[in-house]
Amino acid sequence: MSARAAVVLPASMLRRPPQLAPSWELQTEVVVVGAGAAGLSAALAAAAGGRRVLLLTKGALGSGATALAQGGMAAVVDPADCSDRHVHDTLAAGGGLCDPGTVRDLVHAAPAELARLRALGATFDHDPHRPDTLALTREGGHSHRRIVHAGGDATGAEVDRALVAELRRSAVQVLEHVVALDAIRDSEGTVVGLSVACVEQTGRLDPGVVLAQAVVLATGGLGQAWAATTNPAGATGDGQGLALRAGAEIRDIEFVQFHPTVLWRGPGARGRQPLISEAVRGEGAVLVDATGQRVMAGVHRLGDLAPRDVVAAAMHRRMAEARGGVSTHLFLDATGLGAALLQRRFPTVLALCRTAGVDPVREPIPVAPGAHYACGGVTADLSGRTGVRGLFAVGETASTGVHGANRLASNSLPEALLAGRRAGELLAAQLPSGREPVVFPAGPTPPAGSRAATAVATSRWAGVVRSTAGLQRLLDHLGDPAATGPVEATLETVEAAALHTVSTMVCLAALARQESRGCHRRSDAPEPSPHGAWHVTLQLEEDRLQIGSRARDHAA
Ligand SMILES: Cc1cc2nc3c(=O)[nH]c(=O)nc-3n(C[C@H](O)[C@H](O)[C@H](O)COP(=O)(O)OP(=O)(O)OC[C@H]3O[C@@H](n4cnc5c(N)ncnc54)[C@H](O)[C@@H]3O)c2cc1C
Repeated sequence: MSARAAVVLPASMLRRPPQLAPSWELQTEVVVVGAGAAGLSAALAAAAGGRRVLLLTKGALGSGATALAQGGMAAVVDPADCSDRHVHDTLAAGGGLCDPGTVRDLVHAAPAELARLRALGATFDHDPHRPDTLALTREGGHSHRRIVHAGGDATGAEVDRALVAELRRSAVQVLEHVVALDAIRDSEGTVVGLSVACVEQTGRLDPGVVLAQAVVLATGGLGQAWAATTNPAGATGDGQGLALRAGAEIRDIEFVQFHPTVLWRGPGARGRQPLISEAVRGEGAVLVDATGQRVMAGVHRLGDLAPRDVVAAAMHRRMAEARGGVSTHLFLDATGLGAALLQRRFPTVLALCRTAGVDPVREPIPVAPGAHYACGGVTADLSGRTGVRGLFAVGETASTGVHGANRLASNSLPEALLAGRRAGELLAAQLPSGREPVVFPAGPTPPAGSRAATAVATSRWAGVVRSTAGLQRLLDHLGDPAATGPVEATLETVEAAALHTVSTMVCLAALARQESRGCHRRSDAPEPSPHGAWHVTLQLEEDRLQIGSRARDHAA
């Protein structure tokens, strides 16, 4: 389909972070925002190429999603596997919206990213029967065992440990508990720095400015916009909002993957919830309802290991039937795996369940889908280049064409590592040059509603299954002037504004996508469009927010 006419709305519907008069200033060549796999890789590569690099993170090192990753990293390392199959599986999961060239690039580069981590000292699990061979597991949508893991189900912690150890050996300057607020641009729109703030222990902010020739956004995902999520507390979509305000294009942000098996801890559970890795199903666990009936039987040829969008939608349907009188959750039956395998392969999952009073060795685990992964984001290539000079986006913040309408499990860590490293190398080779920053005035902090209220409304109206009527109600809620919140400049205020922006972007894009595709499901448009796959885009031009669409992108 060709480009559709854009809908234009006033930019005032977006909440900005506080605009504060700075009390301090730093200068560097490259500033990287975020200390997950993507940000660490970017900072290390730029510093290795001789750049002065400053890395900011609003939490402590290790507080992003990277350290929480359980299942592993997808890479073709088994001689019986092949790249074409990994490419095929990624495209099949992506619902027609992946960029095939970008997918091929990632698949061919993933084994080298794994080798880079191992050279840095990361240790991955080996096959107990063939100690010189990496152990491989399967996850949803993969046609072959190709997921490399560490510490059983603690892959991300090992990836993070190895990268942070290298960071400590490097010349990168690190500032923890510093939050990026907005881009600073020159008169031609080139990004030349950031307004930032140190987060004091009380949550209050000490504002400052970082001037740099390149800004790399590696701020991760946006799962906190939903009431139940696997994402860490800081996953509030700050980078996606910042990039939009800086003039970058946001693409396909309505595609939020809901992980099928998030531990269900009661109807009032809010914020980050424990994840039950898909690899548990990869080893044989099955989804059942309260009457013990299999959920995925007859739904998809891959059964319980169908792509996540398919499993989450099937769960949503079964929960609506309320079989056995239970409509809030289903169960993951892992009792057939046995205590020894559960203990060896899934020590993290076992500990999380037992802390919540569930013993997976003896009883099915209560589970429900939860917001997990942002498939869309800031339009960028696999070197982080956005449409805005001086601004780069890598990792979960970016939309590179790898994930399309639905990410294939365990493709995100390789993507974050690859795009981060390439962005760093690009900036080591050449820096964009900007002019004098345009000073922007300090202003009052606008109310953005309470974080919890936004998340509950987003879950209710922009969850696994959506409709025009529901999304319209969400938009009304977000625009409600009565939804006032904290107006003092604190981390809470900043994150509430970021979440408001995320929910608004997701809602507008979901309204524009009047079809069901990948992890965007509409009860009032249950089929994919007969006109083929297209991107939904959002862009700010002066004081107008444009929501547009165009045919699927193809990398050269
Ligand atoms: C529970 C869980 C399990 C997962 N399991 C897997 C898996 O097995 N395999 C896989 O491939 N993927 C998995 N994923 C997804 C994967 O972990 C993430 O997509 C990936 O780690 C993202 O890396 P990142 O570097 O882009 O962001 P993150 O690792 O999330 O890092 C974001 C960083 O940005 C910082 N930040 C955010 N906003 C600001 C701001 N305004 N100012 C300053 N700093 C900021 C944060 O503090 C953090 O340091 C999982 C995700 C979760 C939540």
